[in-house]
Order: sequence, then C-alpha cells, then structure tokens
Amino acid sequence: MAVTESQVLEALRRVVDPDRGSDIVSLKMVSGVAVKDGHVHFTLEVDPQRGAALEPLRQSAEKAVDRLPGVLSVTAVLTAHRPAPKAVSGGPGAPAAPGAAPGAKPAKAGIPGVAAIIAVASGKGGVGKSTTSTNLALAMAANGLKVGLLDADIYGPSMPRMMGLSGKPDSTDGKRLDPLVNYGIKVMSMGFLVAEDTPMIWRGPMVMSAITQMLRDVNWGELDVLVVDMPPGTGDAQLTMAQGVPLAGAVIVSTPQDIALLDARKGLNMFRRVDVPVLGIIENMSYFCCPNCGHRSDIFSHGGAKAEAEKLGIDFLGEVPLDIAIRETSDAGTPITVSQPDGVHAQTYRAIAARVAEKIKAGGGRAAPRFVIE
Ligand code: ADP
Repeated sequence: MAVTESQVLEALRRVVDPDRGSDIVSLKMVSGVAVKDGHVHFTLEVDPQRGAALEPLRQSAEKAVDRLPGVLSVTAVLTAHRPAPKAVSGGPGAPAAPGAAPGAKPAKAGIPGVAAIIAVASGKGGVGKSTTSTNLALAMAANGLKVGLLDADIYGPSMPRMMGLSGKPDSTDGKRLDPLVNYGIKVMSMGFLVAEDTPMIWRGPMVMSAITQMLRDVNWGELDVLVVDMPPGTGDAQLTMAQGVPLAGAVIVSTPQDIALLDARKGLNMFRRVDVPVLGIIENMSYFCCPNCGHRSDIFSHGGAKAEAEKLGIDFLGEVPLDIAIRETSDAGTPITVSQPDGVHAQTYRAIAARVAEKIKAGGGRAAPRFVIE
C-alpha cells in the first residue's frame, strides 16, 4: 500500500531531538513533506549553530520513515534558519498558520529594483515548466516589459540550453554576479556556475544559500518582472523561494492528466501554506498538433486543467499544445516566442503573458484553495 504524508508524520513523531527532549514534529522542525510513489522527501528546520551536530538526528528521522511499509526511498535535508525577522514565530519553514491575521505575516525584503517576482511551478518534472517559464518570460519582454529569468531548478538547470547561453557570469562591481543576457532577457542559472555533468548532491542549507544568492547577489538592475523557474515538487527549495522573497504570485504549469493525478494540486497546496497567491494554471501539452497536416488530436484528454481550475477556484491562464516545433526550438536555445514571433504559439504565450502581467498589476491572484492531499 502506498505510504501517506500522515504516516510519515506519525513515524517522525517518534523521533526525539535529544537536546530539546521533545519529538521533531511537535517541535515544528518538520516541513515540506512530499510523498510520491513511495519516495519521501522532507526538511528539518534547524538552528544554524546546531547544523552539523544534528546529522545523527537527520539520519534517525530518515531511518524512522524508511521502516514504514511501502517506502522506497527517503531524503531528509537539514535547513538552517536564517537570522529571520522577529515576526517569524514558527521559523522560516513553518507553514503560515491557516487564517493567521495578515498583520502577523513577516515582512519579506524584496530585491531592490525588481518590481515583481513570480514563480513558475509544477508538481512534478517533465510537464514543460522550464519551456513555459522561458517562453512566458520572452513573451513578457515582447509585450514591452523588462524581464529577468532565474533558473531556481538547481538540481537540473535547463535555462542555459533553452536560452542559448553559455559561459561564466562576470562581476563588474566585484560583489555581485552579472546575469548573462540573451533575447533581451537577463538570466541567472546554477548551470552557469557548475558544469552540467556535476552531480548535484545538495543538502538543505546549501540549497537555501544557492537560491538566496542567485536571487540577491545578482545585478538584476531594474526589472518589471523576475520570472523564477522553480524546481519541480514541493521541497525545501520551493519553500526558500516562497518564504525568502515577496512573491507577487505563482503560475502552475500542468499537463491535462497531471492535474487529475494530484501532482499540480500539491504545488497549489504548497503556495497556500506559505500564503503566496496563485495567479493561475497553464495547461501545457494540452492537445497534439500534427506537424504535417495541422490536425489537432486531444491525446491527453485536453481540457483537464481548465475544468479542474474551475473546480478549484483557480484562474485558467491558457493552453499550449504539444507541438514538436516547441520542443525543437526550446531544446535548440531558440524558444518559439523569439524564433517564430508571428506564429500561433508565440501569440498564445504573449496572450498568457499579458494575462499574468494584468494580474500582477491588480495585486496578485486568488488565494490558493484549501484541500488535503494524502
Ligand atoms: P520541466 O521543466 O517541467 O521538467 P521541460 O520544460 O524541460 O519540463 O520540458 C520537458 C521536455 O518537453 C523538453 O524536451 C521540452 O522541449 C518538451 N516540451 C515542453 N513543452 C512542450 C510542448 N508544449 N510541446 C512539445 N514539447 C514540449
């Protein structure tokens, strides 16, 4: 039988932090629990001073979950508290209490010069999140905005390839990195800093500091929008993003079948927990366009995301078909929005970009709906 999030939490209740004499769940050290097909991931929030000393506790937590029937793998990462503003009572990883008074929210420092930051997220990998982030960013630029693109997918950075960029960033002021630029967009990615074939075995604190640095220690200059391509899933990297900077909102990318399978909802649920408004859902690979005759086939029960979005009270931002031209251009570093600007797909992305920009202007999207994921 498949293991559930509540079974994981139940197992973790038996793990005691020896220094504080209570279990790690009651101590609110556990966050970002993600369970997928028997693979379990969670984060342990720790005081940075205790970081290294808590490795045995991390291992005990992994072992406790590993013993559950149906668990195939467990990854627990230690995440250090940042010296946070006083208002953060539960620590940066603790989900905002549902219904907490707005005044109780910690003030998050923005990035000077950057008017709005939006996150593009998906519940799992391979749904076209990076392709969508890239084309959305380019479409926003085509609509006249100053745009930056941050590849926060530090485990599998794809922006260098998709944006046709290579080389190492310079630092003109000797303090911050200069983003690389192509098609009028400023881009930063872990892929510029480490070789593509370097294995990325990141532990929590490193994930946090890598993303924080890419957000804050980069010369973004004046931007209307910074589009952040999030890593897939709902782990600590997402929480860092969602909690470390004020996000104007999140865009969820989903394939028609994946929303039905709860993956996209997991993404929604995470943004709800951290109080980030959801701007809407984009259905990617919505239907298939035959490159020869232009015939349209709804191979993935097209429309699933739209129907589900309505049900969940989330706005539907648009649909992008599965078309080999989108894949070939994005994999070749010439995304379709810039390489075929007069084509139908570029028009679609520009329309979606305009909708997203409108929503940012209007002050964000709707609060993510509440639902429980088992
Ligand atoms: P993710 O970021 O969700 O892992 P990617 O954006 O890397 O996904 O996309 C995975 C693969 O699917 C890539 O090869 C990409 O070119 C292709 N792809 C994404 N969206 C489309 C689409 N609408 N039509 C055709 N291929 C697509």
